[in-house]
Amino acid sequence: MGNFKTTLMVGPRMLTQQLDHGITIVATGGEELKPKEYLYGEDPRVVTQLELEGMLAREKTKAAALKEVVMIQCVGSRNAQRPYCSRVCCAEAVKNAITLKSLNPQSQVTILYRDMRTYSHLEAHYGRARKLGVRFLRYEEDRPPQVRHRDGRLELSLYNPVLREEWILHPDLLALSTATVPSETQELASLLKVPRTAEGFFLEAHMKLRPVDFATEGLYLCGLAHAPKMMDEALSQAWAAVARACTVLSKDEILVGGVVSVVDPERCAACLTCVRVCPYNVPVINADGVAEIEIAKCQGCGICASECPGKAIQLQHFTDAQILAKCQALKDEGVGHPAEEAA
Ligand SMILES: Cc1cc2nc3c(=O)[nH]c(=O)nc-3n(C[C@H](O)[C@H](O)[C@H](O)COP(=O)(O)OP(=O)(O)OC[C@H]3O[C@@H](n4cnc5c(N)ncnc54)[C@H](O)[C@@H]3O)c2cc1C
Ligand code: SF4
Ligand code: SF4
Ligand code: SF4
Repeated sequence: MGNFKTTLMVGPRMLTQQLDHGITIVATGGEELKPKEYLYGEDPRVVTQLELEGMLAREKTKAAALKEVVMIQCVGSRNAQRPYCSRVCCAEAVKNAITLKSLNPQSQVTILYRDMRTYSHLEAHYGRARKLGVRFLRYEEDRPPQVRHRDGRLELSLYNPVLREEWILHPDLLALSTATVPSETQELASLLKVPRTAEGFFLEAHMKLRPVDFATEGLYLCGLAHAPKMMDEALSQAWAAVARACTVLSKDEILVGGVVSVVDPERCAACLTCVRVCPYNVPVINADGVAEIEIAKCQGCGICASECPGKAIQLQHFTDAQILAKCQALKDEGVGHPAEEAA
């Protein structure tokens, strides 16, 4: 914390540039999943919601000519591989459906959903879409829609669990509400030594007490890198991360705690035990071939001191001599176990 050095590759010639910075905010974002199902990539009439949004913005005449558009929700989300809800796709589908209806009120727009999650004020857009005639049909997770080619057309079959019957639709365009996935950050995570969830989103130190901090001091996170969220939520979190960062940047000096571990190089056998057990990845083997602990990084948990087989590490204020002296004092004063005293 307070002393990061980052080497950047910049410009077309990829020249290196070194930055010195006091804190680091991880805001690597995410993207829309490119799916493998529902003929995506095989038929140009099957697109993602983001691709449809691009068409609605740039090719209005083409979009207005569409007679029947079907959207499928939860493509790649809320399944065994990605159990989370991608949060933005229900609102995005409703937004695109409203635009389609405003370009061509006669078009048939159908949204196939498992649950509509237009939460909070977004519910007003859901109500508006219904008033405009957008059709919402539920499908069950274990009976998803089937898409195939028939006579050059797209054919979609769907079990309607309300009417308990099979429906067949022939859309001109099929829009898939695909999962929001994190950017590729495996290398960055191992470089910064910060944790990620099984799905690859960065993990905060504590959901309620330290929601924009990593466990390592001076590292913060925000936005889609953390979890799927709308733009306004990403901005709020960014402000929170900046506020946390300012608590460090506003200081000229940082005082570190006195309870830190110190290595006696004479005793160290470079066995790597402390390097492996430290939950904050602090100990390293230095150029002299012995363990070294950067006291500004050490959290004083004492794990390395208790694990070191050579007794080469002492936790300041809790040294072996101090602990033994305390035990001896307790014994000399005749203080027993609370249960024994009560008896
Ligand atoms: C399909 C889709 C539709 C959405 N629709 C809406 C909507 O309608 N309304 C709404 O409010 N929100 C919507 N969102 C959410 C909104 O896009 C996000 O909340 C917002 O973009 C998050 O901002 P961010 O800065 O965290 O991430 P991003 O906008 O993803 O930016 C991250 C940046 O980090 C860069 N980066 C990644 N890795 C590295 C690295 N290793 N080193 C350096 N740079 C890196 C990326 O190139 C990118 O420029 C949508 C999201 C998706 C995926
Ligand atoms: S926001 Fe809607 S479409 Fe997206 S994963 Fe959640 S429920 Fe499914
Ligand atoms: S555990 Fe002890 S002996 Fe092993 S590398 Fe660390 S300080 Fe040295
Ligand atoms: S005391 Fe804890 S945080 Fe400090 S170096 Fe040892 S194991 Fe790591």
